[in-house]
Amino acid sequence: MQQVYLNGEFLPPDQARVSVFDRGFIFGDGVYEVIPVFGGRLFRLPHHLSRLDASLGAIRLRNPHTQQEWNDIFTRLLAAGSGDQSIYLQITRGVAPRDHAFPPNITPTVFAYAQPLKYSPPEQLAQGVTAVTAADIRWQRCDIKAIALLANALLRQEAIDQGAVEAILVRDGLVTEGAASNIFVVKNGRLVTPPKGPFILPGITRDLVVEIARARGIPCDELPVKIETLTSADEVWLTSSTKEILPITRIDGRPVGNGKPGPMHARTFALYKEYKQAFIQGQVD
Ligand code: PLP
Repeated sequence: MQQVYLNGEFLPPDQARVSVFDRGFIFGDGVYEVIPVFGGRLFRLPHHLSRLDASLGAIRLRNPHTQQEWNDIFTRLLAAGSGDQSIYLQITRGVAPRDHAFPPNITPTVFAYAQPLKYSPPEQLAQGVTAVTAADIRWQRCDIKAIALLANALLRQEAIDQGAVEAILVRDGLVTEGAASNIFVVKNGRLVTPPKGPFILPGITRDLVVEIARARGIPCDELPVKIETLTSADEVWLTSSTKEILPITRIDGRPVGNGKPGPMHARTFALYKEYKQAFIQGQVD
């Protein structure tokens, strides 16, 4: 049976127990990461661990493990599975009587598990997906990968209720990101994605797309994206570790460009897959 990691132990999921007074449960006081595993290798692990450090630092928690310890935990979790997988890891402030203030001398709760990677259905890649725009009702520290995802869950559900796959969030007339993804637009052969800052999660896939595009001579800007730019774009994509690079072909019921995935998506996704293949073969880190 598949095992999960909890506070130093590897256990069957139904034997892993967390206190009802865990601050993750009571306050959503914790952070998480999702790391894809392709061909048995943890994709962009240093990037994920450095974002984890940034999230932990922002909520004033110490990283409970060294890079080597994390690696050992993940390797053991992955050994039970096969094919492409993903690691979910979560650290909360720990267990204490309910009080907003940080309790002194508290031990963080550390939880991780591996699961098979669920790729987007091929028809979503071939035809693109539908999105809706929604007001970005979240807080002002969206750069922290916080487990408190109530606003994101409400926004994603709003999208699902309207028959869409993702909500594209808009704050003060500017696109921030998706409910669980980053956003790219293509206009006149240039990629544009909103700049990093407090209103978006610095996506690992986003950064990789920017890196690959620039390395291969595809013009790519990190600039504010007005809602009008989104609605008049030639192409729109969402990116995330599990959805990779997915074309959005309808927004709020209207087609994006000609309503089909565009040539820039085809080119960038091919370069991404090439990079991924090189990673699987150990040619890139
Ligand atoms: N933005 C949000 C709010 C997310 O939840 C996610 C991933 O789940 C992303 C962006 C994409 O980040 P990554 O590419 O690191 O998966």
